Amino acid sequence: QVRVRFAPSPTGNLHVGGARTALFNYLFARSKGGKFVLRIEDTDLERSTKESEEAVLQDLSWLGLDWDEGPGVGGDYGPYRQSERNSLYKQYADKLLESGHVYRCFCSNEELEKMKEIAKLKQLPPVYTGKWATATDAEVQKELERGTPYTYRFRVPKGGSLKISDLIRGEVSWNLDTLGDFVIMRSNGQPVYNFCVTVDDATMAISHVIRAEEHLPNTLRQALIYKALGFSMPYFAHVSLILAPDRSKLSKRHGATSVGQFREMGYLPQAMVNYLALLGWGDGTENEFFTLKQLVEKFTIERVNKSGAIFDSTKLRWMNGQHLRAIPSNELTKLIGERWKSTGILTESKGPFVDEAIQLLKDGIDLVPDSDKALSNLLSYPLRDTLTSSEGKSIVEDNLSEVAAHLLAAYDGGELLAALEEGHAGWQKWVKGFGKTLKRKGKSLFMPLRVLLTGKLHGPDMGASILLIHKAGTHGIVSPRAE
Ligand code: GLU
Repeated sequence: QVRVRFAPSPTGNLHVGGARTALFNYLFARSKGGKFVLRIEDTDLERSTKESEEAVLQDLSWLGLDWDEGPGVGGDYGPYRQSERNSLYKQYADKLLESGHVYRCFCSNEELEKMKEIAKLKQLPPVYTGKWATATDAEVQKELERGTPYTYRFRVPKGGSLKISDLIRGEVSWNLDTLGDFVIMRSNGQPVYNFCVTVDDATMAISHVIRAEEHLPNTLRQALIYKALGFSMPYFAHVSLILAPDRSKLSKRHGATSVGQFREMGYLPQAMVNYLALLGWGDGTENEFFTLKQLVEKFTIERVNKSGAIFDSTKLRWMNGQHLRAIPSNELTKLIGERWKSTGILTESKGPFVDEAIQLLKDGIDLVPDSDKALSNLLSYPLRDTLTSSEGKSIVEDNLSEVAAHLLAAYDGGELLAALEEGHAGWQKWVKGFGKTLKRKGKSLFMPLRVLLTGKLHGPDMGASILLIHKAGTHGIVSPRAE
């Protein structure tokens, strides 16, 4: 059975890179009918916080990546927090000590520092060369009696190499001589990260480890521990890094990088998920729009790219617009209507005015919060700025006054308002007649009309805009402007 895990360290917010790792694991599990496990890697007690754990869980839930086992849901392989699994680590560490894969190292920090310096001078890799790898039982016994603190050090096989076959990168191999004997348990009994991960993945029956490329050096150590414990190795898939547009590592200086930040900016979870999936994966066609359900249907690990993916926030914004416009209109109306009411732009959250406004404005926005500006902009009347702009001036010269005079007459005579009351058909009919009288059509008719009636040179569909502005004026739905 396929069992994968996402194993965040709760030391900060969920970064887009972590979210993508979670997503790939989720998609792999769901597409294979397997299980998606969530494990909290809080061995770093100083940097791990409960708030951060909660924030990560909240972000995953918001993205819709529900886990089958883990905090909050339980499961047969718990506990799912490393801080609650210490006795298990101790048990396996002792097993390795017994089998001789691990030895006690009584070296002090000073001794270890010295070894490193010597290696540096000799230009050798900083590998452990202390005597405890080959110490006799009597030597060990003596230190134990003295109460000298010791670590558990893993005996790395000498000479030769280690190979794994990575599902994304193909064969990866390491020369074992560059790896010194490493610590798996500190002198205070605290197990070391790589050891915990191995024991957890093995005892949680994880079949595939899908994680970021930066964990490759850990994989080497973990693979050695797997072998020593006699566990069969999972499949590994190391996903490439997410890069900034300048191909450097994506970081805070490139703008928002955490899922929570994007949520606060008004991004939709479905757009986030879709965009993250495209960072290193595609279905092989031109199509880029996918719902989570479609991703589950299409995802295969074979299609995950091994080169780095560029995080392009402009594209993410565009993608959000695609998803926004894909929301069924009743839901979108609810979403935006409630926003307009709660932000105080409108006095009502629903009704024909709201429906029409959203229909008119949605093509021009990518994010839900952009709808505020779009509506206020539509209802504003910056005629002075419009007429004094260079484009505006040319329209004035182009007989704006002639159109204005006739428009005023139509307004005073009541025909314009009567036409607007009749809605779209009324407006169309009126505009046609108006053009005929003035012997104008196309741009020379519509530009002056747009300027006079909306105050602006450009905007969404003119007829619909004017009808909506008219409604806003007569239906009292727009909140009075604060002066
Ligand atoms: N806890 C690690 C991290 O947050 C992930 C470890 C793993 O996936 O093996 O980067």
